[in-house]
Amino acid sequence: MNTNRLTNRDVAAILSGVAARLQILDANRFRIIAFQNAAESIRNLAQDINAVDAAGELTSIQGVGKGIGDAIHHLLANGSDPEFDALFAQVPQGVVDMMQIPDMGPKKAKRLWEELGIDSVAALRAAAETGQLRDLKGFGAKSEEKILKGIELLTKRSEQGADERTPIGAARPLALRIIAELRSRLPDSAIERIEVAGSLRRWKETIGDVDILCVSTQPALVMESFRTLPEVADVVGAGETKSSVVLGNGLQVDLRVVERKHWGAALQYFTGSKEHNVALRELALKQGWSLNEYGLTATGDGDAPAGEQRFFEEEAGLYAFLGLDWVAPELRENRGEVQAARQHTLPELITLDQLQGELHSHTTWSDGGASVAEMAEAARARGYRYWNVSDHSIGLGIVQGVDAEKLRRQRAEIDAYNRRCAEQEIDFRLLQGSEVEILADGSLGLPDDVLEELDVVVASIHSAQRQDRETITGRCLKAIRNPHVDILGHPTGRIIGERPPTEIDMERILQACLETGTVVEINANPARLDVSDVYARRAVELGCKLVINCDAHSPRELELAEYGVGVARRGWLTAADVINTRSLAAMLALLKDARKGSSDQ
Ligand SMILES: [Zn+2]
Ligand SMILES: [Zn+2]
Repeated sequence: MNTNRLTNRDVAAILSGVAARLQILDANRFRIIAFQNAAESIRNLAQDINAVDAAGELTSIQGVGKGIGDAIHHLLANGSDPEFDALFAQVPQGVVDMMQIPDMGPKKAKRLWEELGIDSVAALRAAAETGQLRDLKGFGAKSEEKILKGIELLTKRSEQGADERTPIGAARPLALRIIAELRSRLPDSAIERIEVAGSLRRWKETIGDVDILCVSTQPALVMESFRTLPEVADVVGAGETKSSVVLGNGLQVDLRVVERKHWGAALQYFTGSKEHNVALRELALKQGWSLNEYGLTATGDGDAPAGEQRFFEEEAGLYAFLGLDWVAPELRENRGEVQAARQHTLPELITLDQLQGELHSHTTWSDGGASVAEMAEAARARGYRYWNVSDHSIGLGIVQGVDAEKLRRQRAEIDAYNRRCAEQEIDFRLLQGSEVEILADGSLGLPDDVLEELDVVVASIHSAQRQDRETITGRCLKAIRNPHVDILGHPTGRIIGERPPTEIDMERILQACLETGTVVEINANPARLDVSDVYARRAVELGCKLVINCDAHSPRELELAEYGVGVARRGWLTAADVINTRSLAAMLALLKDARKGSSDQ
């Protein structure tokens, strides 16, 4: 057995490294895009790349053709590929790193490297600080200053963690606040429309820069107001219709003002993703139009005379012109959505208002901050019909868990609350459950006879998370096969930007969930988003059911549901795939069937 087995992430990183080097070497554009696409697909692939290779199915991965497939096969078998090795030897990693500096494209990096021999970010900083760049054609004292500023920003970001992207849970509230502040500072007439674009609009789990678009007849006023917002730590770009600022936490926010007639194309363009936009541009070209952020221009290859222009006030108009249904931003990742839009087979995505209740939450009985009644009131205020109290079981170590005796006392409290609701004819029901710990050997933190009495059981891992792949997968499978376990909570255990997922074999886990009717959780806490969009989509492909849970430890955390819905939509989920869109009776019937099903096995 090869002990230096490459993971999906390793392979994706190597392919990205190849793409970056090809960019610097000014290779064929399509070859560069091919490697970028393959890297992105593999980074998002639910199955283990080694398993896909063993089955001889590498080319079934989107964006992986015969050539790249063969290279990956080499890579997995030998740990290296001669062509890749040559590229990596030719262009130093330091030059690739330089491309991470804002505004430093491959062309500039290449010139600095070839003409001045600069081959690392540190060398570039030293050269800029000592004024060595200003003699290079096209560079000046001003670009030295800009490069130094860029390096500072880059360092700041990497100090905040290996991942320079900001978790959506931090970026989204900030972006919404900026929009609200602009609206309150400016007269109503100044802003006709304003919206976030970019990865934030697509609900990606981490965000690079925040992009905001607006339609205004007074761009100067809008720009001035934006650059002087109290959150702004630094202004890095100040144009007539575009400004870029850096907030105190290092997050860059770009604001662009566009004309109303360009809104549809601009919003589409700046929402991305890059891969989706490439696919759309290619489709437009086939129809004789070139597409950019302003609209379509006839190339002369189609029916319209060259140079003819089309503008779109709405995105839907642009998509329709190209023969496509409007594609929800969450789907724009070039994962089959363009084809589905053409065939009118896009899914009707789940929406936040379809959730009728939640099945994972904590109260002061374990580590929650509010009582059973306080949490219930908050759930009712959101319009929920049911709510499962699932405090931690014993076996967690740090948290004071709820044992059988405490569960009996808690049941009395829950029954009393439900009686009060019934007396007042309120259509709401508290359920009693547990977030039972999956112990290191796969047994559970509560005995079966206690679990049997509970309405909804969530089983999760919080301890011994560094077990190897076989051990932790086996441990989890044992829990899934327990007939009393209804839901697998935050299956991979990751904390975005802090703790990587466990080594768990998700493909086997999802298969077992399907066989036993165990529901897969999308934990909506933006620090978790677990399972991710990719696994959510894989789960549905296999036929699993999912649940969106806030895992709320306080009434305020009930607000987080929208992040879970974002993941679900990115995973192509409809309301039918998610059990807490069902009525209480239908949801409980589904879980009961599953319990019966697993005990029959
Ligand atoms: Zn948990
Ligand atoms: Zn929990």
